[in-house]
Amino acid sequence: MVVVAVYDTKPHDCQYLEAAGAHKEIIWHFFDFRLTAATAITAKGAQAVCIFVNDIVDRPCLEILAQVGVELIALRATGYNNIDLEAAKELNLKVIRVPAYSPNAVAEHTIGLLLALNRKIYLAYNRVRELNFSLKGLIGFDLCGKIAGIVGAGRIGALVAQILRGFDMKVLVFDPVHNLDWAKKYGIEYVELPVLLKESDVISLHVPLLPATFHLLDDKAFDSMKPGVCIINTSRGKVINTTSLIKALKSGHIRGVALDTYEEEEGVFFEDLSDQILLDDELSRLLTFPNVLITAHQGFFTHEALSEIAKTTVANLQAFSQKTPFLSGTVLN
Ligand code: NAD
Repeated sequence: MVVVAVYDTKPHDCQYLEAAGAHKEIIWHFFDFRLTAATAITAKGAQAVCIFVNDIVDRPCLEILAQVGVELIALRATGYNNIDLEAAKELNLKVIRVPAYSPNAVAEHTIGLLLALNRKIYLAYNRVRELNFSLKGLIGFDLCGKIAGIVGAGRIGALVAQILRGFDMKVLVFDPVHNLDWAKKYGIEYVELPVLLKESDVISLHVPLLPATFHLLDDKAFDSMKPGVCIINTSRGKVINTTSLIKALKSGHIRGVALDTYEEEEGVFFEDLSDQILLDDELSRLLTFPNVLITAHQGFFTHEALSEIAKTTVANLQAFSQKTPFLSGTVLN
């Protein structure tokens, strides 16, 4: 039997985790607030915590978790930049994640954002609902024959690259790890980042957030891009320097940007703030541009992805309860 404190819980989390079974072995304590050092005391009585992308599991938080008897941190996500893994190891806290649930979900959302941004479908939808059937300002460009640059060709980036080849785009990829058989099969070319930035008409980001990818797109990177480029970010918000992005948008150098993640999304994305004042001035500024399309971190949000996240998480919590090995590839420390 294992008691699990689940943080940043939304109704779909309860629904999918409970549907994954193991009622006799797992007792869920669902909390709607995020796990931080300030809330960590609420894990008392639980042997495991289950967290999502915007919980802040830094050293002070981990110290409290260890003190109250938590032994396992189960991420119901792929990215783990919000956990201090070194501190967790020192404190003897095991960290597990869901390494791959549905790369298709994120890849397909990326393509949806690109098509909507390029053809201004979000503007057209609102316009037509107000009986404005004018096409003024809605001109897009054919993807066919243009150049796409994929930064990070892992599970998600590789799928995006393959789908874009289906549009007959030329696809350039920057990734320190080269899979030459895959590139040959799909007619995709590996290049260095400066070449990708300079040549691409569309740039899509699919890297994990690491020291090397923090603010990968900064003033210098935006300046080096082809004028009129479209940028899509479904990876992590901090891969783009928002101040630099706003500067590039104001100058007209980039044609548009679609973001599923935002640098300071914690406490904003996933929440209904429609009756509040938005305190983030950079997010407020971004929302004023007609060529900025933002979704609130919903790339993962499909039935298949949620089922897989719940299935892997529950299987690992059962393994923890029964002291059997965790699923392969899920342990981070
Ligand atoms: P992955 O680990 O399969 O692929 C990441 C790729 O990035 C790897 O091929 C790696 O070699 C490459 N990489 C690492 N450092 C790099 C660098 N400095 N420059 C270029 N490439 C680099 O991960 P994935 O499953 O494809 O996920 C990618 C990212 O997408 C995740 O880390 C996560 O941040 C994000 N994500 C977002 C959502 C969402 O809902 N929007 C959902 C899942 C994942």
